[in-house]
Amino acid sequence: MPRLSILVEGTVQGVGMRPFVFAAARAGGIVGSVHNGGAALHIEVQGTRRALDDFVQAIERCPPPARIERMHITEIEDRADDSFRILESDRTTSTRPVIPADLALCADCAEEMDQPHGRRFRYPFTNCARCGPRYAIVESLPYDRSFTSMKDFVMCSQCRAEYEDPRDRRFHAQPIACPACGPRLVLCASDGSSVAEGEEALTQSVRALLDGGVLALKGLGGFQLLVDATNSHAVARLRVRKRREAKPFAVLFASREMLRAYAEVSEEEERTLASSEAPILLVRGRERLAAEVAPGMRRMGAMLPCTPLHRLLARFAMRPLVCTSGNLGEEPMCTSNAEALERLRDVADLFLMHDRPVVRPVDDSVGRVGADGQLVVLRRARGFSPMPLRLAEGVAPVIALGGQLKSTVAIALPDPHGGNGHVVVSQHLGDLHSAEGDRLLERTVHDLSAFFGVKPRVFACDLHPDYASTRLAERLSAASGAQLVRVQHHHAHIAACMAEHGITERALGVAWDGAGYGPDGTIWGGEFLLCEGATFHRVGHLRPFALPGGERAMRDPKRTALALLHAVFGRAAAIEHARPWFSPADAETLLTMIERKVNAPLASSVGRLFDGIAALAGLTALNRFEGEAAMQLESAADGLAPDSSYSFAICNDRPFVLDWEPLVRSVVADRAEGMAVGVISARFHAALVSAVEQIAVRIGEPRVVLGGGCFQNERLEQSVCERLTARGFDVSSPRRYPPNDGGLSLGQVLVASRTHPR
Ligand code: ZN
Ligand code: ZN
Ligand code: FE
Repeated sequence: MPRLSILVEGTVQGVGMRPFVFAAARAGGIVGSVHNGGAALHIEVQGTRRALDDFVQAIERCPPPARIERMHITEIEDRADDSFRILESDRTTSTRPVIPADLALCADCAEEMDQPHGRRFRYPFTNCARCGPRYAIVESLPYDRSFTSMKDFVMCSQCRAEYEDPRDRRFHAQPIACPACGPRLVLCASDGSSVAEGEEALTQSVRALLDGGVLALKGLGGFQLLVDATNSHAVARLRVRKRREAKPFAVLFASREMLRAYAEVSEEEERTLASSEAPILLVRGRERLAAEVAPGMRRMGAMLPCTPLHRLLARFAMRPLVCTSGNLGEEPMCTSNAEALERLRDVADLFLMHDRPVVRPVDDSVGRVGADGQLVVLRRARGFSPMPLRLAEGVAPVIALGGQLKSTVAIALPDPHGGNGHVVVSQHLGDLHSAEGDRLLERTVHDLSAFFGVKPRVFACDLHPDYASTRLAERLSAASGAQLVRVQHHHAHIAACMAEHGITERALGVAWDGAGYGPDGTIWGGEFLLCEGATFHRVGHLRPFALPGGERAMRDPKRTALALLHAVFGRAAAIEHARPWFSPADAETLLTMIERKVNAPLASSVGRLFDGIAALAGLTALNRFEGEAAMQLESAADGLAPDSSYSFAICNDRPFVLDWEPLVRSVVADRAEGMAVGVISARFHAALVSAVEQIAVRIGEPRVVLGGGCFQNERLEQSVCERLTARGFDVSSPRRYPPNDGGLSLGQVLVASRTHPR
C-alpha cells in the first residue's frame, strides 16, 4: 500500500492538530504516525490510495485556529505498521521554533461551561488544545506546561487523563485546568483585602458593575478596567480616574445577539469578532450606549468575550461593558496582582483577580473590516502576536525597536538553511512616554531574542534622535558591538507593507501620517517615496506649512488652520478670519512665530493637514488624543458620497509638490456659504484620492504601496485602492500589520536586513 510523508507548515503546533490528525487517520483506517518537529507537523500515513486522498483533504480543511501555510507530500517506501500513533515531539530539529498566539474561547469549551452537571460548569479558566492562553503565559520554549505560568498547578487525575488521551480535545493542552486543580478567582478591595472568592467573587463583581463601579479585571494578558457602558456617570468617572479624556473605549458584548442590538455589524464583522483572534472591531454604533464611550465618533470598538471569565462576566451583567486596558493614559497595562493594586489603586473600586500569572502583557488587538471584507489590524497583540510573518527573501539577524507611539519590537528569524526568513513582531507595547513604557520596551527586546534564540547582529531604529527607542538601540548596539541602522520613518512605513505582501521589487510608496523625522530637519508625513532595495528617493511630498508652537499646534488644529490661512491669504486676512478662535493679539504672536521661524517647525504632514482642514471646516475642538480631529473629519463624511472634489495644485518635478492652496481657498469659500462639515470632508477626501492618482500616474511606477497612520482612515484607504486599481496600478495596503507606527519595527527589520551583507 502507498505510504506518504507529509510535512505541514503554518500554525500547526499547540492548536490541537495532533488529535485532529489522529482522528482523521483512525476514521480512514490509515496507519502511520504524527509528531511535532521544529516548526512543522510531520505525518506519515499508509493506506489505500482513496483513503490517503481523503485524509489529505481532511488535513487541508483542518479547523481554525490551525492554519496551514504549506504542505510537502512525498511518497516513501511502505512499512509494516499496525496502528496510527502520536510520537514524542522531535526537539532535535534546529528549525525556527513556533508558539501560537493566545486563542479565544472555542465553541466546545463554551458549551462545556454551560453544562450544569459537568465538572467545568461556569469554570472561568476552561480551555483546550484549540483555545486559551498561550503567549501570555509562556516563559520559554519549548511550549510545554513546565515552561508556562501554569507550572505550579498540579493536574488532577481527571485533567491528567484528558491531557494524555490522544482522542481528547485536551490532548497536550498545556494550560489545561479545572475547578479542582486550576486557577481560582478572588475579588479584592482596593486595599488588597479579599472580599469574596470563586463564583461569589464573580457575582459581587457584577453587582458592583451594575451599581456604576469601576472593576479592575485580570484578563488573559493583563489587567483591564470595566464599567457599565450604558451608565454615563460610570463611564465619565472612569475617564477622569484613568486620565483618558476622550479616546474611545471598547465595549464588550455578551453575545452576537446583544451586539446586534447596539451596533450595525456585517456578516464578515461578526465572523471576525467570533474568530479565535477575537479582536476589538471598529463598527457602526447604534447610539444606545453612554455618549461618553466614544464622544463625537460614529464608530465604536466592539468585542465579544475572548476568555471564559469575560464570557461569564458579560453574561451575568446582561449589559454592554466598557472594557479597556488597565493602565493610566497610554502606559503599559498592569500584569501582576500587586502591580495592579498599586498602580490602579485610585482607578478601580474592586479588583477581580486570579492566581495564574501573566508572563508578558498582551493587550486586546484592534481592527476594522473594510468594505472589501478584509480585516485591517490597527493594533496587533492578543490573537496575532507572536505569529511569524514569512518574508519573500532571506533576512539578517536584526532586531528593530520601532518608533515612539504604539511601540512594537520586531525580530528577524533567519532561515538556518539560507532560505526565506521570518519576522516576529511583538505585541503592541503602548507609548514610550513613561518609565514603565521604556522598561517594557527593553524587557521585550531581551524577551524576544531569548525566546527565539536569536543574537541580533544589527539593531534598527528610527532616524529620530530623541525617541526612547532610538536611545535604547544606541545603548544596546554599543554594548554588544552590533551594527546600528537608522531607518527613516516613512521609509519604514512603506517597507512594512512591502514585507507583509512579499514585495521585493521597486515600488512607489505613499506614506502619509502625523509626523516623522525627515532627514532635512523638517517634519515629514505627506511623502511619495520610490523604494528599492534598502534605499528610497523622495519623489513627491505635500507642500510644507508651519506648525506655530510645534507640539501645541499638534494639540490645537486651529493653529495649523491659522498657518494655512496665513500662507494663502496673507497676514491681515488670516487674523481677521481667525477672530472666532484667537484674539488679534494672540493671532499676531502666532504669525510672528511663523514669519520669524521661531518655534514654528515646517511639516509636510497629511495628518496635520487633516487637522487644519478639520478646523477650517468647523471642527475647532482640541485634539485630546492623537488623530482626534482627523477621525472626526472622517466620521463627519460617513455615508456621504462626494458630490465634487477639491483640488491640489501639483508643482515642481521630482520631487513633485502637492500644493494645498487651491484646496484651502475652496474649503474657506464652502464654509463661508455654510456648507456642512460632512460635505467638506467628503470633497477633501476626494481631493486626496485624486492627488495620489495624479502623482502615481506621473511617476509611472506600476506598483504602489500605502503606509502611515492616515491609512487607518477607511474612506481614504479604500478610495485610493479603488482608484489606483482602476487605473491599472498594482496597489498594496497594510492588512495584518498596522498602517500606523505599530508597523514601523517590521519595516525597520526589512530595510536594516537589506543593508546588512549576508
Ligand atoms: Zn476550547
Ligand atoms: Zn483538574
Ligand atoms: Fe508614522
